[in-house]
Amino acid sequence: MFFKKLSQIIPDPERVLCDELMSNHTTFRIGGPADWLVLPKSVEEITAVLAAAKTESVPVTVLGRGSNVLVADKGIRGLVLRLGKYMSGIRHDGLTIYAGAGASLGDVSRYAAKLSLTGLEFAIGIPGTIGGAVFMNAGAYEGEMRQVVNAVTALCPDGGLTRYCCEELDFGYRHSIFSDNQSLICEIELQLAPGDAVAIRTKMDECTFRRNTRQPVELPSAGSVFKRPPGYYAGTLIEQTGLKGLTIGGAQVSEKHAGFIVNIGGATARDVLALISEVQQRVYEKFSVRLEPEIRQIGEI
Ligand SMILES: Cc1cc2nc3c(=O)[nH]c(=O)nc-3n(C[C@H](O)[C@H](O)[C@H](O)COP(=O)(O)OP(=O)(O)OC[C@H]3O[C@@H](n4cnc5c(N)ncnc54)[C@H](O)[C@@H]3O)c2cc1C
Repeated sequence: MFFKKLSQIIPDPERVLCDELMSNHTTFRIGGPADWLVLPKSVEEITAVLAAAKTESVPVTVLGRGSNVLVADKGIRGLVLRLGKYMSGIRHDGLTIYAGAGASLGDVSRYAAKLSLTGLEFAIGIPGTIGGAVFMNAGAYEGEMRQVVNAVTALCPDGGLTRYCCEELDFGYRHSIFSDNQSLICEIELQLAPGDAVAIRTKMDECTFRRNTRQPVELPSAGSVFKRPPGYYAGTLIEQTGLKGLTIGGAQVSEKHAGFIVNIGGATARDVLALISEVQQRVYEKFSVRLEPEIRQIGEI
């Protein structure tokens, strides 16, 4: 019944899926089926789909690239709205870049580089969408989204479109206003500065080199598992506790970077959660520091 409604709103079978395995939509390659998964193309489609979900009391989960989430083995009840390539338009006007929330952060970073605009070099290897990056205030190598976001247009739970300027976004460490207000990020406006094309390229290449040499980019993961505890680095604490290589089922504390848990084959969300809890306990016993997960748990555990 609900599927029929979705198909009437979006009559494209490639963009309305039923019982879709979330392992196909997460960088961890973990996650059971979502009841329905929709790949919207426009704000109008999202608005119509959200209205239908509200009428039928269907819960809604919003995702981008799925690169910072652990989806439960039993999957996600209700509807997943996944913003990706169909909402990934990028354009610019002077020093301002406008990107659809589904645009890949890497693409936006490369787009800025082509225009010799500086400020987004840090983002080159972060594998998410720009919508997810704003939600998380993603950052790397001394850069953070908050330094470049000028405004965000988002759909509020009541269905209205709101433009938030940067002062209203409440950016903090891996936090934005969207972590609290249930709005759906649709478009991002970035304010960059004129730069030197060669210097921008060099910085991007350095970031890529550092990432590829230090992070287990060759294995499925969801990036750093834990937030940085004040005064420490989670990866260093985990390494100094002797936990590199610790394995539960298909989940392993990366041998290359202890702050990552990697899927070495067939890992389940249950494996990852057991490993997270073991790491938290052992690090606490050694250093009295509580590690708090950065990755977001989604779905029916
Ligand atoms: C190998 C690897 C390296 C990584 N390196 C970094 C790094 O250096 N720095 C860093 O900060 N992160 C890093 N990450 C984590 C991740 O890539 C970022 O957090 C990224 O910004 C998440 O974007 P996403 O589109 O994948 O979001 P998702 O994982 O899909 O979602 C994350 C959260 O954002 C919400 N969300 C997503 N899109 C929207 C939207 N349009 N509207 C409202 N809510 C939304 C979701 O509901 C969810 O709660 C890494 C991950 C991997 C796998």
